[in-house]
Amino acid sequence: MKSNINDGILITFLDFLKEGIIIVDDETKVIEFVNRFAKKFLKDENYQGKNFKEVVENDYIYSLISYNHDKDVKAEVNIDNQKYLINVYRIEGKKIIHIQDITPFEVYKQAKKDFVSNVSHELKTPISVLKSAVETIEEEKDPVMIKKFVNIAKKRIEQMDHLINDLLILARLESQEDQVKKVKYDLHKQIEEIFEDLKHLTEEKNIQLINQIPTKFEIYADEQKLSIALKNLVENAIKYNKQDGKVIVKAVKDSKHTTITVEDTGIGIPEESLPLVFERFYRVDKSRSRNIGGTGLGLSIVKHITEAHKGKVWVESKLGKGSKFFIKIPNT
Ligand code: ADP
Repeated sequence: MKSNINDGILITFLDFLKEGIIIVDDETKVIEFVNRFAKKFLKDENYQGKNFKEVVENDYIYSLISYNHDKDVKAEVNIDNQKYLINVYRIEGKKIIHIQDITPFEVYKQAKKDFVSNVSHELKTPISVLKSAVETIEEEKDPVMIKKFVNIAKKRIEQMDHLINDLLILARLESQEDQVKKVKYDLHKQIEEIFEDLKHLTEEKNIQLINQIPTKFEIYADEQKLSIALKNLVENAIKYNKQDGKVIVKAVKDSKHTTITVEDTGIGIPEESLPLVFERFYRVDKSRSRNIGGTGLGLSIVKHITEAHKGKVWVESKLGKGSKFFIKIPNT
């Protein structure tokens, strides 16, 4: 059947593609077509009528075209820090070279690998401590020692519980079904509820929680999700605070945005760590964070929730003086 589609439309379409197409005559080796994406692999944009040997810049692509094969060829190659999947097809006396940039998949694959290895690592430490605590309890006769090791075991179970909860929150946030459901509600009241939930953490270092959000301050957001984000920020502000420190929560609203700040008088964050604290599993001080029950996931959850609201999150901090986290979300 003869197609009604003219060559012009096909060429325009091929030029739109974010994949490369090079067509070479298999006998004469003359390049017949190169789409826009594939032009970066040529030495000379004026390829018409030229032998591919004169114009193909990259050695890998060159050898793939030169290679005299009966079957189609497939190869993954690195060019200028990008990873490409190249397929060479032989169709009706032509070689069609199809080039796909697979760097994003590689980045994704690596992120997945890193994630699995991070989670395994995070679970391995508490599990091995738990294992030796249980073995000691089994052998031990002294009730004081038994109590001590039961407490060690309990602490590690809580740590794993915390990690699994955070992982479940992240998984839910990343799944498509869990969309942002915005409603208007009172932010002052929400902060009061968060303070009430976290009061028990303030006792050890006598931390003062101060809600400076005006009463009946209306916000338009996903109430449950924002509560998770703010709770994470307030919890960090308590955990990384000093003796008799303060945690102050404020909010301001202009015509377009509401900005919430959670400020503490704690240990602060070194400047070089500021861009990294929102990354999964990043901790400024690994052993300290683990000791106080940190998972390294809290701030990545905060970032996720803020971005799901089309907002922004950032931090300002002075080492030894304290930190101030900002969440800015649109009012509509
Ligand atoms: P964690 O569960 O370890 O607290 P987060 O993702 O919540 O993980 O935070 C990442 C790291 O950022 C923490 O380990 C800590 O080093 C640092 N951090 C977070 N909040 C604060 C804060 N308010 N003051 C000082 N450091 C903080």
